[in-house]
Amino acid sequence: MKKLFLLFLVSYSVQGISQELDYQPKILLVTAHPDDDALFSVTVWKTTKLLGGIVDLALMTNGEGGYKYSTLGNYVYGKELDQEETGRDYLPGIRKKELMAGGDVVGIRNYFFFDQQDFYYTQDVEETLEKWDTPPILERLTSIIEKEKYDFVFMMLPFNGNHGHHNVATIMALQAIESMDPDNRPIALPSWNKREGQEGLDFEMLEGYPITKVLPNVIFEFDRNQKFGFDDRLDYNIITNWVIAEHKSQGTMQLLMQGGRVEQYWYAEINGTDGLDKTRQFFEVINAAQPD
Ligand SMILES: [Zn+2]
Repeated sequence: MKKLFLLFLVSYSVQGISQELDYQPKILLVTAHPDDDALFSVTVWKTTKLLGGIVDLALMTNGEGGYKYSTLGNYVYGKELDQEETGRDYLPGIRKKELMAGGDVVGIRNYFFFDQQDFYYTQDVEETLEKWDTPPILERLTSIIEKEKYDFVFMMLPFNGNHGHHNVATIMALQAIESMDPDNRPIALPSWNKREGQEGLDFEMLEGYPITKVLPNVIFEFDRNQKFGFDDRLDYNIITNWVIAEHKSQGTMQLLMQGGRVEQYWYAEINGTDGLDKTRQFFEVINAAQPD
């Protein structure tokens, strides 16, 4: 059945509409691999650069499994990174630096590294849950979220067929949030990108993991194709390109993000409905905020 998405946001094309938040937005990104955060890059950039907000990142794996895509990185780093042994040795260090260089572009403040092994590509959630130290991850993630008092947590949409590491990173984030006192929880927003003008993913939950349920018919977006600047020659895909370009040991994300993209944010059912107004207001401001 085709789903009609009720879009709560309004896309402002007129400059000068004054929209402000009465708080400093604070966001945690929870991702599996060092380039996954490119998904949220422009909402993050606007939050830190235009709204005076704070964004931190919790990274689950050490990224060593990316050696398969390091053929061009060999020439950048002068090492045979695409050979498994060399890649697994050097990529954890290299990819942390790349992550932080990309993070500088969008203003990420702080990083929490969980250093789980990026063992290999699998869609198997249970295998990933078993291979990672999941109880300590959950404990540390919960304590970070409790201490920092984030307004929102962004994570990758855990759809069937997505990488098991991506889906487990999101499950960990949702479990951490669900374990907290409901009055102090941040709002969990699973995210994906779609091409401009195309339909987004039809997502309800990851099969077998009801914690991943989202509210039906609720989706918030930011369209990176919004134009601005001299003669309207600029758009926000530029920022995403800058972030991805820092990941020179990799490359596939660059191809995935080609063409204009729209950032989409679902609303996790575990949030209850109390956070809907706050989320709606946040994305109205994100859409309205423009560089001078
Ligand atoms: Zn990834």
